[in-house]
Amino acid sequence: MRIDLHAHSNASDGTDSPAELVAAAVAAGLDVVALTDHDTVAGYGEAAEAVRGTGLTLVPGAELSCRTGGISMHLLAYLFDPAEPEFAAERELVRTDRFRRGRAVVEKCVELGAPISWEQVEQIAGNGSVGRPHIASALVEAGVVPDVSAAFTADWLANGGRADVPKHETDPVTAVRLVRAAGGVPVFAHPGAVKRGRTVSEDTIRELAGAGLGGLEVDHMDHDPETRERLRALAGELGLLATGSSDYHGSRKTVRLGEHTTDPAVYEALLAQATGAAPITG
Ligand code: AMP
Ligand code: FE
Ligand code: FE
Ligand code: ZN
Repeated sequence: MRIDLHAHSNASDGTDSPAELVAAAVAAGLDVVALTDHDTVAGYGEAAEAVRGTGLTLVPGAELSCRTGGISMHLLAYLFDPAEPEFAAERELVRTDRFRRGRAVVEKCVELGAPISWEQVEQIAGNGSVGRPHIASALVEAGVVPDVSAAFTADWLANGGRADVPKHETDPVTAVRLVRAAGGVPVFAHPGAVKRGRTVSEDTIRELAGAGLGGLEVDHMDHDPETRERLRALAGELGLLATGSSDYHGSRKTVRLGEHTTDPAVYEALLAQATGAAPITG
């Protein structure tokens, strides 16, 4: 069983459509793939159609933008009821604020001399939940930076960078409770991804565990071996599941689907905690 529990489609900042993501998961030899777009479930319908007849299992999910103590963090949510109103309203709030913030980031880029426009970013994002990676792609198109990751520096879009503007992000304790109340399983995404900026303390992780966190994403491209060992030990101590996943974004990142995977026993334990939705097997 090859299980990848974190992948993005063009419903957020990935480059594959949900159907293309499903096809890529089949081609990568995966048995299970989770669709975890930022703050949206808009890709579910197309992905569910696309798994039919493939034998692939689709785990519907999302990745929520959170912030605590001035530090941004991401919370994966699996198998929640997408219609549960309180959680749906919070996702909507974050998505709406992404537009205000996206325009403000583009304005800053223009002030800094980058020849990009909001119309261009809208075109790149399509119907997707708009984010900095779309603006990064605009900066690449304009020849300002050579690739998407080069846009995530202090000069441009990195957290606290010259053109960064914060968006509304949910308090993670609130987010954990919202996910559980919708029957889902919350897993802290890449908790040790230091290259993206400051990361939350172990105390915060303990607090989230007390609030109902279900797991830590341990095996992730942004974690070095020492970080993985530290997080694996912490997960064991706190009774949290230790997951692994690619965080695939299509051609916006170099990581391949299935580059990191989740142990089948951990996946089974995650399924056992979920009451809001079921995986879809094609
Ligand atoms: P946003 O959701 O608009 O705040 O943008 C965050 C997204 O930017 C993340 O989900 C990643 O896809 C991407 N990102 C963040 N940091 C980096 C980085 N250092 N290199 C490449 N992509 C990044
Ligand atoms: Fe992303
Ligand atoms: Fe993330
Ligand atoms: Zn992600």
